[in-house]
Amino acid sequence: MKKAVIKAYAKLNLILDVLEKREDGYHEVEMIMQAISLYDLITIKSGEGINVTTNHPLVPLDERNLAYQAAALLIKKYPDIPGVEINIEKNIPMEAGLAGGSTDAAAVLIGMNKLYSLKMDSAELLEKGALLGSDVPFCILGSTALAKGRGEIIEEITQCPKLWVVLVKPDFGVKTKEVYQNLILSDITSRPDLGGYINALQVGDISHLFNKTANVLEYSTFKLYPKVKKLKENLQAMGAKSLLMSGSGPTIYALFTAQKDADTFASDVRKGCTHQVWVAHTLNKEILNERVEIL
Ligand code: ATP
Repeated sequence: MKKAVIKAYAKLNLILDVLEKREDGYHEVEMIMQAISLYDLITIKSGEGINVTTNHPLVPLDERNLAYQAAALLIKKYPDIPGVEINIEKNIPMEAGLAGGSTDAAAVLIGMNKLYSLKMDSAELLEKGALLGSDVPFCILGSTALAKGRGEIIEEITQCPKLWVVLVKPDFGVKTKEVYQNLILSDITSRPDLGGYINALQVGDISHLFNKTANVLEYSTFKLYPKVKKLKENLQAMGAKSLLMSGSGPTIYALFTAQKDADTFASDVRKGCTHQVWVAHTLNKEILNERVEIL
């Protein structure tokens, strides 16, 4: 029996701006999102009903799981599919601001599309993704994209050059909803320069890409969790030049041009603390296009 094996890549935010709170309760955002090489490994096989298994004790196995919801959505549309077995080998930390659940859902849509030759085009996949969650369309499209609306309106932009990333996550998670609820828009004194960042991607201005990352959710998360602010300050004191919180946090990432510098920084961080630390790199379209294998 055939199976689909999909690398479900994490994302980080190079830019995250919140413009206003909408009448439907969501916030209007503008983000530059970037896929990175840290991934969950998703395996999909035919089965009866929807059965989710995982190596991670805290991942829900029922309809609360976004990967489960993605399978349910496709089975509803294609009732000839009797069911699927989904295994999630979880490597992306949860409640970390790295879109772990969203990327698993995106992987199930892409994997089932290929496994069952459903022939959904990119527009249809993105539309299905938006029904599951604001970050799912980006996780389908990658690799560097501008996201608007509540995050689901996605446009590819010039790919980010290969940069190395050290991700540092404290030993607690952050609920995205809580961070948005706590955000006071009038507190935001410094706005990201979205156009300038897109221009820097176009001309390959590495110095700008390093120095002008920005995330206004830091205003909210730092107030709720002063330990995250402290973590960023500590990493700065250790010499990291480009530091930002991803999404609603609490992961803080540092950018490097050379792998050896990222590795050295990561091992220095590991020495001094009990935080989880990963070294990854930004991904290009070619690698994303090879994320599904049918075996
Ligand atoms: P984002 O960056 O999109 O805000 P996140 O990285 O902060 O996401 P997730 O790892 O997606 O957060 O987890 C948030 C919640 O989603 C978890 O508490 C978990 O219960 C639920 N969840 C649903 N499906 C999954 C999944 N496949 N993997 C991990 N968490 C999932």
